[in-house]
Amino acid sequence: MSSPAAWKAELRFVAITLLASGVTGWLIGELAPALVVGLLVLLAYWLRQLWRIHHWLSQPQEEPPESRGLWGEVFDSIYHLQRNQREERDRLQTAVSYLHDSFAALKDGVVMIDPRGGIEWCNAAATDLLGLQFPRDKGQSIVNLLRLPAFFDYFEEGDFRQPLMVEGPSDAEIRLKLEITSFGQGSRLLFATDVTRMEQLEVMRRDFVGNVSHELRTPLTVITGYLYTLEETLLRTEPSLEKPLHQMQQQADRMEGLLKDLLLLSRLEALDVSLEKSLVSVAGLAAEVSEEASIAWPGRSVHCDVSALVSVPANYQQLYSALLNLVINALKYSERDVYVSWHEEAGLGYLSVRDEGPGIDDVHLPRLTERFYRVDVGRSREMGGTGLGLAIVKHVLAGHGGRLLIESKPGQGSIFSCVLPLS
Ligand code: ADP
Repeated sequence: MSSPAAWKAELRFVAITLLASGVTGWLIGELAPALVVGLLVLLAYWLRQLWRIHHWLSQPQEEPPESRGLWGEVFDSIYHLQRNQREERDRLQTAVSYLHDSFAALKDGVVMIDPRGGIEWCNAAATDLLGLQFPRDKGQSIVNLLRLPAFFDYFEEGDFRQPLMVEGPSDAEIRLKLEITSFGQGSRLLFATDVTRMEQLEVMRRDFVGNVSHELRTPLTVITGYLYTLEETLLRTEPSLEKPLHQMQQQADRMEGLLKDLLLLSRLEALDVSLEKSLVSVAGLAAEVSEEASIAWPGRSVHCDVSALVSVPANYQQLYSALLNLVINALKYSERDVYVSWHEEAGLGYLSVRDEGPGIDDVHLPRLTERFYRVDVGRSREMGGTGLGLAIVKHVLAGHGGRLLIESKPGQGSIFSCVLPLS
């Protein structure tokens, strides 16, 4: 029955009851009392329906009461609402159980944290890695339980873009990577991953490259020394050996450059966050770099447009090596002048090296700072490149909390900028 029809039927019922009691009252000459009785009958009927609803709502698992007309419709609507709600709750419960089961099966520790910082739930891996106990620790503050000062600061600051590396709270031999994601109304999800093995491998790789480069330097120095002696003595009697000796010398120089860059890279990677910094005059640095570059590339000009007042907190040696790499690249890969400039924007300083060389296609840009990645291997070798220059620049800038910005288009030259925080 549609609602207007149900209302009409209910009004008809009221009208008939009142009419019947009115007519009976008129016939027996007691109109007013008969009408009051009619109204009392109606009231009793409605009170009974209310009582049935109330009784049913207190035991909602029972079938709804049967009724006709408007009341029947009210019962049906409540019943449907209740059923939809129950189905929705079951669906949500299934989804939550599914999520819990998936998180519980993960090897990484997972902790659900409520908006006040209390533990809502955690899986078995979180128990092992973070020393938490569930349900014992439910509702306890996560920062109080983990007792890691670095985690306390990280959690309170609320900037979760970068993960946090810490020692395991229950085992200092374990290295953990902690990542936090916010969701819902201020709730957070903490993931703890054991990266001990990965870090050990990374240290082994770094040490291996560093040690090999170091070990190779001594024999190479001996070979280069003998080559110089041979060039000076043997060439007087054996001029035909000039070309092979010259090539051997070139390759030895190339190898020395490679070892030097590899050693520098592994030293940069091994550096702790505590990099020694001072206020570096950018104009002075640019002038020194330009002078050194001019010695290697006589006849080419490096123009510096940097105010004498500009200074930036940095490690002088490292920034020098980064800028020199960029200027040497600009000289190597272009045939025109090179321009070094400085500008500031939104709290960052941009130390840029611009050239009017061939430029670089977009596809290469994201990979340029990878070790040994070259756009043109032949040209790089011909120019004495090691393929490590931009990797060094990237590491230096990362150590300063900055980054390398590369803007280039084929045929339109390139701009390599060291982006540095000013404070
Ligand atoms: P390389 O020793 O080969 O120069 P880098 O790491 O310094 O190694 O540079 C990587 C590659 O990036 C180079 O081989 C070259 O292809 C490209 N490149 C770097 N600087 C420039 C530049 N100013 N113009 C054009 N290409 C460049």
